[in-house]
This record gives sequence, structure tokens and C-alpha cells, in this order.
Amino acid sequence: MSVIEGVLNFILIYFIVSGIFNYIAYSRAKKAANQAEQELSAFNLPVKEEIELVHDHICGSTLPKSEAYVLAKDGIRHYFCSWACRNKFIEDNKCKC
Ligand SMILES: [Zn+2]
Repeated sequence: MSVIEGVLNFILIYFIVSGIFNYIAYSRAKKAANQAEQELSAFNLPVKEEIELVHDHICGSTLPKSEAYVLAKDGIRHYFCSWACRNKFIEDNKCKC
């Protein structure tokens, strides 16, 4: 009798404990799934890429600011597509044309 009770108690405890572990595993999985969904929705947000374009007055080309050669003169920044254009600007401004 007491052996059967012991076995039943063991089975009962086993189910309770495994139930708790299953619940923890389930809530963790649910949390991870929610997080993944949030990350995915964040990833799907339209990324507004702002490329600032600058104008090279020497050759007339337009190029991204990040790729431009910069020259600051009289507090104004001038942008150029190449080192050659930058040098041409410097030469042109020496003679003040
Ligand atoms: Zn140029």
C-alpha cells in the first residue's frame, strides 16, 4: 500500500515538475518568438538613406558628399569630384577670375 502511494506520489510530483519545466520552456520560446517578430518588423521598416549630394563647380558633376574632396575657403566649403578639380579651383582662385 505504502509502496503504491509512494509510486503515485512520485508520478504526481514528476508531472507537476515536468509541467512547470514545460511552462518555463514554453514561455521562453514565446518570448523569443515575440522578440524575433519585433526584430523582423524593425528590420522591415523603410530605411531612409539620406545621401547628401554636392556639386563640383569645376567640372559640373554631382557626387555624394562622403566621396567629395573638400576645400574650405573664406568659411565656405567647396566640394570636388577629384583632386585635380580641387587643384584647378585653387589655381583659378589665385588669379581671381
Ligand atoms: Zn570635378
